[in-house]
Amino acid sequence: MDSTPPAHGNPAPDSLAAAIRAGDRRALARGITLVESTRPDHRAEAEGLLASLLPHTGGAVRLGISGVPGVGKSTFIEAFGLHVIGQGGKVAVLAVDPSSQRTGGSILGDKTRMEELSRHGRAFIRPSPAGTTLGGVARRTREAMLLLEAAGFDLVIVETVGVGQSETAVADMVDLFLLLLPPAGGDELQGIKKGIVELADLIVVNKADGDLVAAARHAVAEYRHALHMLRPASPHWRVPVLSCSAITGTGVPEVWEMVGRYRAALGPTGDIDRRRAEQARAWMWSEIRENLIAAFTADPSVKALLAETEADVAAGRLTPGMAAQRLLTRFRG
Ligand code: GDP
Repeated sequence: MDSTPPAHGNPAPDSLAAAIRAGDRRALARGITLVESTRPDHRAEAEGLLASLLPHTGGAVRLGISGVPGVGKSTFIEAFGLHVIGQGGKVAVLAVDPSSQRTGGSILGDKTRMEELSRHGRAFIRPSPAGTTLGGVARRTREAMLLLEAAGFDLVIVETVGVGQSETAVADMVDLFLLLLPPAGGDELQGIKKGIVELADLIVVNKADGDLVAAARHAVAEYRHALHMLRPASPHWRVPVLSCSAITGTGVPEVWEMVGRYRAALGPTGDIDRRRAEQARAWMWSEIRENLIAAFTADPSVKALLAETEADVAAGRLTPGMAAQRLLTRFRG
């Protein structure tokens, strides 16, 4: 995939914005490529584009989906997305895949995933951008989400592999976070990280079909029991545990129905608006942090002292606190 938009021959931000709002898919793809670019001139263009589209954002259901590799995320998103499209919706899928940092490519993009959905005219699927940091990938995903909303998508799914910190990053950019779990019980249940379960607004046990129906039923009961021990994040919502089969489609419409119930429960109370407002505020601070760190590490006087100071800290000649002060004093000039 072409990750650097041509510097010349691009339409002006305003006409690109207009084309995105009109639902032009190529313009949308070009806009996303622009926000993914790390080139300073592209960044300025991307900010202009986002500024003109901002009044037209916010209209989508923002849904995060996570689960360990093999649990059936792509199979589920395919079935779920097609169901929502069948109800008249327009569905976009973005991926946050931290592994793409290491490989330069994307695990989520490797195999042919969501084949039918990806061919559908009312769907738009974008693999994870390769980024240097999770923060960088998260920023670009948030911005892509805004472009998709301006383009009229009413469901934006942000998918992440269930490993490490990407769940938190995704939970911090969506209205609700769906955790897809395997139909396992007992020991395997213990293995699910508690912190990730705590992020979930909705839990779905997948693969409830064939020989696995009984195991899935058992898992649903165990997760429900386990959730009783957790303090609810909102007094207006108790995290439901559903089961489905992404392959047969059984239970998939019920998941979409539950998303609707979540919105009906937390929309009127202002919970979703507050969550979005808090996310926007936190995002601003993460932009500030990223920019400060970038300016700090690029500063020539800091650079000149950095290797030596790090060596002093590693050798125990300087405390980390003193070392930081020394560098920060240099940075402030
Ligand atoms: P991902 O890595 O989480 O995206 O998982 P995939 O969607 O690629 O699915 C992993 C494997 O589980 C594939 O072989 C799927 O066919 C299988 N699978 C996915 N959903 C179901 C399901 O509902 N029932 C059964 N029996 N298998 C499923």
